[in-house]
Amino acid sequence: MKVLKFGGTSVGSVENMSHVKDIINDGHKKIVVLSAMSGTTNQLVAIARDILNKTPNDAITKIDTLHETYMNTIDRLIINTLLNSDCKTYVSGIFSFLSACTYKASSALLDNQIVAQGELLSTYIFNSYLEQEGINASLLPALDFMKIDSFKEPDIEYIKKNFKTVFDNTKDSQIYITQGFICLDETGEISNLQRGGSDYTATIIGAAIKAEEVQIWTDIDGMHNNDPRYVENTKPISNLSFDEAAELAYFGAKILHPQTVIPVRADSIPVRLKNTMEPEAYGTLISEKTSGSGIKAIAAKDNITAIKIKSARMLQAHGFLKKVFEVFEVYKTSIDMITTSEVAVSLTIDDDKNLNKIIKELDNIATVEVDNNHSIICLVGHECVNHQSTYKLFQILQDVKIRMISYGGSNNNISLLIDTKDKIKTLQKLNNYLFELVTL
Ligand code: ADP
Ligand code: ASP
Ligand code: MG
Repeated sequence: MKVLKFGGTSVGSVENMSHVKDIINDGHKKIVVLSAMSGTTNQLVAIARDILNKTPNDAITKIDTLHETYMNTIDRLIINTLLNSDCKTYVSGIFSFLSACTYKASSALLDNQIVAQGELLSTYIFNSYLEQEGINASLLPALDFMKIDSFKEPDIEYIKKNFKTVFDNTKDSQIYITQGFICLDETGEISNLQRGGSDYTATIIGAAIKAEEVQIWTDIDGMHNNDPRYVENTKPISNLSFDEAAELAYFGAKILHPQTVIPVRADSIPVRLKNTMEPEAYGTLISEKTSGSGIKAIAAKDNITAIKIKSARMLQAHGFLKKVFEVFEVYKTSIDMITTSEVAVSLTIDDDKNLNKIIKELDNIATVEVDNNHSIICLVGHECVNHQSTYKLFQILQDVKIRMISYGGSNNNISLLIDTKDKIKTLQKLNNYLFELVTL
């Protein structure tokens, strides 16, 4: 069986939902993971923020506007009177719940309950639509099987067992629809897989059922060789290895949630990226095969903090690095890039929640300098560090100020740390020269 995930834009309008229906209605049994309709999760996050900021009237205005949009969508999509009224009752129940939340005190749990509503809305509406169209579909509630542990990792044994129970108890259907993104945490409270997490839901389910393939359907024809939001003339890449895709996703290629390929890599379950608006386009196939040579793609990750930790004779003071890393471990803050010299170590983090505490502890063992507003530019390609044209990178970057460089950590990745204000210029320059749109 295949698992197909459709993102926010794919279910974001009546027209696109009709495209999704045509794509999935091919006579094969499948699991369909849906995101919230585009814009909804952002609105829910904003509503939770209004509650935190004690401006409930702002939250109520947003809730009412969103409610009206959903009622209009249902009227356009579901013309069957019974289904239309059933759907409106369910959706209005969710909006009543949201309104009730505005009287409550803000908490992390309340935030999670609020942001979870987007996927509950989209799946219910889409399932009603399929029923209206005479398609044999059922809803599998994600909160009955999707769970993360105390390290926020999927609890795969729990998921396998409970998915099977839910699946076996559901009427025999062609299409099984479930919510992306939402899950339970280790205490059984509602949680989520972080923004963009529906991709991750799809591969977690794919791994749990040993799916034949996972497909991520979105609004672009696959993984491009550079970020199309900032760079002109990007091109889709037909094939990527799991390792290449994992690096690109982790270092900012928004088309995939950072963890997407991790659950399926061990079982070599292929992941195909497809465009809902252009289903005939090949897209990208992510598999264990490696292909091509040299730098294949570039991605950028923002909100990076660089920390320089200086101590006299660092390298000869054994145990120094251990002490440094222990501080990051205590505050559960992972390090992305690292470079060293005789007297200093520079590293980067993307989660600055505990930065002040980290600096305070590091101050006891060294001198610390912090630089905010940096971006990691990540260049990816099988064996790219050994490729004969990679030298060009250094020529191209002569006039870009590089704060750190990581070369050889793996043979498939070169990372550069730059000031975020130079990001677009650097991405475009790399694109033009590395992909030979312009020669040096
Ligand atoms: P969905 O809502 O379907 O999950 P996303 O917005 O999360 O869609 O991801 C698709 C978007 O990712 C594209 O519209 C594109 O702007 C952005 N993107 C960023 N980097 C890349 C890349 N390297 N290749 C393709 N798309 C990318
Ligand atoms: N709806 C969630 C978000 O906007 C999850 C997703 O779209 O993948 O982040
Ligand atoms: Mg996404």
